[in-house]
Amino acid sequence: MKRVVTDSFFDGVVGTLRRDEPLARYTSMHVGGPADLFFEIDDPADLPLLLSRCATEALPWIVLGRGSNLIVRDGGLRGLVIRLGRGFAGLRVDGPHVVAGAAVRVSQLLAEVERAGIGGFDFLTEIPAEVGGLIAMNAGIPGCEMRDVVESIVVADAFGARTVEAWAIGFGYRRVGLPPSSVVVEATLRGWPREPAAIRSDIDSRRARRRATQPTDAPNSGSMFKNPPGDRAGRLIDAAGLKGTSRGAILVSTKHANFFVNKGGGSARDVLALVDLVRDRVKAQFGVNLEPEVHVIGEDE
Ligand SMILES: Cc1cc2nc3c(=O)[nH]c(=O)nc-3n(C[C@H](O)[C@H](O)[C@H](O)COP(=O)(O)OP(=O)(O)OC[C@H]3O[C@@H](n4cnc5c(N)ncnc54)[C@H](O)[C@@H]3O)c2cc1C
Repeated sequence: MKRVVTDSFFDGVVGTLRRDEPLARYTSMHVGGPADLFFEIDDPADLPLLLSRCATEALPWIVLGRGSNLIVRDGGLRGLVIRLGRGFAGLRVDGPHVVAGAAVRVSQLLAEVERAGIGGFDFLTEIPAEVGGLIAMNAGIPGCEMRDVVESIVVADAFGARTVEAWAIGFGYRRVGLPPSSVVVEATLRGWPREPAAIRSDIDSRRARRRATQPTDAPNSGSMFKNPPGDRAGRLIDAAGLKGTSRGAILVSTKHANFFVNKGGGSARDVLALVDLVRDRVKAQFGVNLEPEVHVIGEDE
């Protein structure tokens, strides 16, 4: 049921409120219905107040990064979507450390570490995410992930903000154990001194490799499934003969079988129908259960 809250719910919290905001424009797959409430919060200091009001009113909420790992169902989201605004986008370098706000984009982070001569972050090349989303997903590539570069994070919940050291974060494969109902506000990352030209060269070659092997020309959500132990989801989907299979306007990429692309006007229903079809066929053919990597939120239409 649609949640109605008055504007006064946001009193004392600086930011911009939109109602019935279509979420398709905030997700990289470009599908999904509207959020009842969409609030871009400007100041990290106001976050505990907002979260405590949500707790008091039992208003469900979710924090949105770049939406590159989210499928929103077509009926949209009942409750509040919190987007982190300009107060969360600070970025500073301190020796081999980078202190980045949760809303810093990967492109910004890479430009800054290259300029400052800090190596260790090129594995993030072409991941269209924000720092908060990178941490929440322990994003990475085989052999390198956020766990390797995070020293500590600052999280906020209804009671305030606090620092959590890396060892206490509970990093796993494309998941983390953040404290319940908390939002990543900032991260301290650690790299090492490196020549900017060497950093640039690694970024360029990773970008070229990605563009050659992934469908960068159509909306998608990156890897749809996690790799099962000892294998790759893309290899199994390809071996099951599913490249090019479609549901509506959503297609299993012919370039990389673990990417689904939106040819235009696709729906979340099509994405989820294709997820089911691919899982069933891979299970039937190879006996392997594929687990989605994307987070699916919201309600059906
Ligand atoms: C073209 C493409 C390539 C990709 N390549 C890779 C890759 O190589 N490796 C990889 O791991 N992933 C990859 N991805 C997937 C995706 O980019 C990552 O999962 C990324 O970490 C998601 O970040 P985001 O900011 O978009 O988060 P969102 O998709 O907005 O959110 C993802 C989850 O994180 C939560 N979240 C977001 N911000 C915060 C915060 N501040 N505090 C707490 N929780 C938060 C959300 O609530 C949600 O549950 C790719 C995606 C695309 C589209």
